[in-house]
Amino acid sequence: MMKIGSHISAAKGYAAMGRQAHKLGASTFAFFTRNPRGGSAKALDEADVAAFLAEAQQNGVTGPLVAHAPYTMNACAADPHLREFARDMMREDLARLEHTPGNFYNFHPGSHVGQGAEAGIAFIAAQLNDVLTEDQHTTVLLETMAGKGSEVGRTFEELRAILDGVERAGKMGVCLDTCHVWDGGYDIVNDLDGVLTQFDKVIGLTRLKAVHLNDSMNPLGAHKDRHAQIGAGHIGLDAFRRIVNHPALRGLPFILETPNDDAGWAKEIALLRGMYGEEA
Ligand code: FE
Ligand code: FE
Ligand code: ZN
Repeated sequence: MMKIGSHISAAKGYAAMGRQAHKLGASTFAFFTRNPRGGSAKALDEADVAAFLAEAQQNGVTGPLVAHAPYTMNACAADPHLREFARDMMREDLARLEHTPGNFYNFHPGSHVGQGAEAGIAFIAAQLNDVLTEDQHTTVLLETMAGKGSEVGRTFEELRAILDGVERAGKMGVCLDTCHVWDGGYDIVNDLDGVLTQFDKVIGLTRLKAVHLNDSMNPLGAHKDRHAQIGAGHIGLDAFRRIVNHPALRGLPFILETPNDDAGWAKEIALLRGMYGEEA
């Protein structure tokens, strides 16, 4: 079965997210571990988590879930206090996610803000080395970035360099965002095979754990990061048909981060399910 879903508001808790995912026709979903702009996380309600887990099978929301760290978390900020803040946030998020083991925690590697990519990569790996533990049950994913501003992670080589600096690399993976790689200059429209071959050579496809499905408002290599609805941007429907059915991607959780309301996401999920060749 296709693993597909959208971002869902975490405001009402886990059980509400599971029911909402079910309503949208989703089998997985993404959510922000706290307000996407940062701030403290709500206390975890264990009864709510238990209700979610109990209903998940029945609802067909079998995951794996792809939790998203707040955008404000910058592991390679120039200010050491901001790096410390990022580190504490990630540690706290991972502790909470142990209540729903076996899922993913995706984060934007960070922006090096003029310090250079190499310095940024070292800070990001250092944070991961401080935070990851041998007994955690969540896989942490680096997201491929569009290369807006001083974002680290626009190239597969930068992501590989981060992974090379992490001691517990077995706890790490990568989440490929279609809008971001397109904006980053990887032509997934005309050469999906070539891009994935490149990914395999540089990072290794075994590290690829999830896909963010977003069309892009901008042309190849624009470095803008403006998401469009599926089929309404420069990537286009035909490319998405190839993406969801590509043998290297088919089994992965696909998460929509398109500008939409609930009805729009339900429609996109149905559209993508229709494109997904169940027999292949
Ligand atoms: Fe993201
Ligand atoms: Fe994304
Ligand atoms: Zn984005």
